[in-house]
Amino acid sequence: MYLANSGWKLIKHLVIARFGNTKITGYRTFFDLLDNLIPATLDIYTVLFRNNKFDEYIDTIYRLWCMMRRFQRHNYDKILLAFLSDVYYWKSIGHPIIETLKNNLNMFDEYIIENFHSLLRRHTTAKVSSSKSLRRDALFIDNFRNENLFATSFVPKRDYPYKKKDLDEMIKRTALFLLNFFDEIWKNDGKVEKKMEGKRTKKPYYYFTSIPTSFPFGALPLGYHSPIPPNMKKFCDKKFCKKSTSDSEGEVLICGHAYHEECFRVLGLKCEHCYKYLDKSINELTNSYNQRLHLEEAQLELDINEMDEDNCELEETDSYKSKIGTDSELQIVIKLIFLVRILLAKKC
Ligand SMILES: [Zn+2]
Ligand SMILES: [Zn+2]
Repeated sequence: MYLANSGWKLIKHLVIARFGNTKITGYRTFFDLLDNLIPATLDIYTVLFRNNKFDEYIDTIYRLWCMMRRFQRHNYDKILLAFLSDVYYWKSIGHPIIETLKNNLNMFDEYIIENFHSLLRRHTTAKVSSSKSLRRDALFIDNFRNENLFATSFVPKRDYPYKKKDLDEMIKRTALFLLNFFDEIWKNDGKVEKKMEGKRTKKPYYYFTSIPTSFPFGALPLGYHSPIPPNMKKFCDKKFCKKSTSDSEGEVLICGHAYHEECFRVLGLKCEHCYKYLDKSINELTNSYNQRLHLEEAQLELDINEMDEDNCELEETDSYKSKIGTDSELQIVIKLIFLVRILLAKKC
């Protein structure tokens, strides 16, 4: 993610200059990924939390909640909302904890708990049916973790595998990859194909012309989850907009919807369609969360099964072999892009 983010920063201005105000799904999906989802995920802990950037932290939690909602990540979509609800409640009643959080956010570090929680989830299965047995397993895992000298002495010691020089070069190679990637999107007009797939229940999956892998519905920008997805036939998505289709006085938002500047001002500087979707989602999730608080213990089993769906393994990092000439290759591609743009401008 760090490479994707750093590589993107190097070439973002070129990609934006090329695609301009286009709304095509392929472009907007990867623009959202690189310019919204990845920076939010990277910054939330290492930059915002650890540097006490409270307001930015809250904004980013909200962006991450939108992402969890899109991807239907159960539990995460509720717990982030519960946190936001607490913060806005404390703000509304002027609770002193808000000042404490603003000045000492990084003191509330739950890393140790989170870390053990991940460990526990990795080593427990759906067999855990009660809080009692979960506690027993947790004690066992904790004990095993600390006491097993025999096993730990055989665990290979791993240093961070990359040097600064390697990282710099990998960032440039990522930038090159991204330039080619967006070039393919440009050539294919950002086409996306929807297929219904799945063994038991059929779900929609999306295929972008240049990538063989399928993407879940959550990968599409927020606007595609709203009751009225971005309209590909006209620029402005405001209901009943009578202005011309010209996009010169408007902007495409990160959700994929586009508005004329004037229309956006009339709407109070918010996307009317996505606002509806998020508003409805907040109501649905808070109702479900409140119901859960009243559940009996027997229901725990179901919750734990659901949590297992969210479980994911840490990926191994591959070693990286330095390639000669990345720097000049990137410079050449960037120069070529500028040259093509100058030629096109002369033609017009
Ligand atoms: Zn309009
Ligand atoms: Zn929208």
